[in-house]
Amino acid sequence: MSKSRYQAPRGTRDILPEEAGRWRWALDSFAELAERFGYGQVISPMFEDLGVFLRLGENTDVVTKEMFTFQDKDPKTPQDLALRPELTASICRAFAQHRPITPWKVWYAGPQFRYEKPQAGRFRQFVQVGAEIIGENDPAADAEIISLAWRFYESLGLKHITLQMNSLGDAETRGVYNQELHSYLSSKAESLSANSRDTLEKNPLRVLDSKREEDLEIIRAAPTIQEFLTTEDANHFELVCEELNSVGIPFVLSPRLVRGLDYYTRTTFEFTADKLQTAQNAVGGGGRYDGLIEELGGPPTQGIGFALGIDRILLACEAEELDLGPIKPLDAFVVDLTGGSQATQITDELRANGLGVDRSFGNRSIKAQMKVADRSEALFAIIVGDDELEKNEVTLRDLRGDGSQERIPRTSLVAALIASIEGRYSE
Ligand code: AMP
Repeated sequence: MSKSRYQAPRGTRDILPEEAGRWRWALDSFAELAERFGYGQVISPMFEDLGVFLRLGENTDVVTKEMFTFQDKDPKTPQDLALRPELTASICRAFAQHRPITPWKVWYAGPQFRYEKPQAGRFRQFVQVGAEIIGENDPAADAEIISLAWRFYESLGLKHITLQMNSLGDAETRGVYNQELHSYLSSKAESLSANSRDTLEKNPLRVLDSKREEDLEIIRAAPTIQEFLTTEDANHFELVCEELNSVGIPFVLSPRLVRGLDYYTRTTFEFTADKLQTAQNAVGGGGRYDGLIEELGGPPTQGIGFALGIDRILLACEAEELDLGPIKPLDAFVVDLTGGSQATQITDELRANGLGVDRSFGNRSIKAQMKVADRSEALFAIIVGDDELEKNEVTLRDLRGDGSQERIPRTSLVAALIASIEGRYSE
């Protein structure tokens, strides 16, 4: 097959029907679970004022290198816009704009855009689901958010997920820790990778995120933020851990876990899929962002949330060999040998009765139509030839079992088909 002129842009892909069922399954599972946890859905724009995302941190790659930006076309209202690289900032902007009653428990799902170097499990357009609790400081809220993500992985059947937990303290603690870390890392600068030496000057905390071989030893011996937490923050974290223990959610303490975005305070967490390669094994993460809403022009309000990457979660499901979103076959395929208008009427009637039905077009031969019927994997074929039409009957043929067929009155088709399908599923 020759290559077509246009391909999906680099870092994006088409999810074709064979695969789309598992996406719907994963997204529906999340929606159903989040609603059961008492969260309401927010559907926000895919692009925002660039300023909304600049609050994510001046030194994060997401802001400096990966944003898809463009300008509003109206010269009277020049405005820098950006495709959303994540949804927490949009949700906080929406909160500041609408000022709903707190705690505001919301969930979302949709594509995000980051100009990243594409590789396995890393795309320029990818889908996240997420949830946030805004306006609540209770450690039980942190535990609930984490448990929603955990129960979601469980609901898909994933068994090899690790939850890592850390506390990043408040802004003040982070300031002190940043200085301490900076002087420790500076003393080792000669042995650090060139990349980390660069990061060190911009944001020492982010060096802890490096996966480069030459940095690992130095990172392992770095001071941890735990030594600097205020009693209040340390207590908060301990209570979150206790709550998780009380509902049997396992986790590991990861004192050097920092997250990609700068806005996190206190509780931070990440989920990794043990069956995926380390470079793309992060399947979700989140934390508290107690200063973000104020930065976006809202009242001082605490918040906590997470985002999970559906692209990678589906890869993790494959790696664990899970049955991904079983597809329900069509109930029937209508083979019309009388011109096509019988197929139009029969499919319409059956579909109106809740059945899954398809047909072919173009008035093809019986052989050609039966071939399409077989390929459709429908359970039954409904055949209408001249003789059937004359007697006001149809032939119902079993396509999956023994291939038997019977003539039935056209008027009792719906009832007969439903009875046959029920018989099939109860076998
Ligand atoms: P973040 O918003 O960076 O905390 O990412 C949350 C989750 O989104 C990650 O754990 C990944 O599962 C997923 N994710 C982030 N960036 C990408 C990407 N470029 N391609 C696919 N998934 C991604």
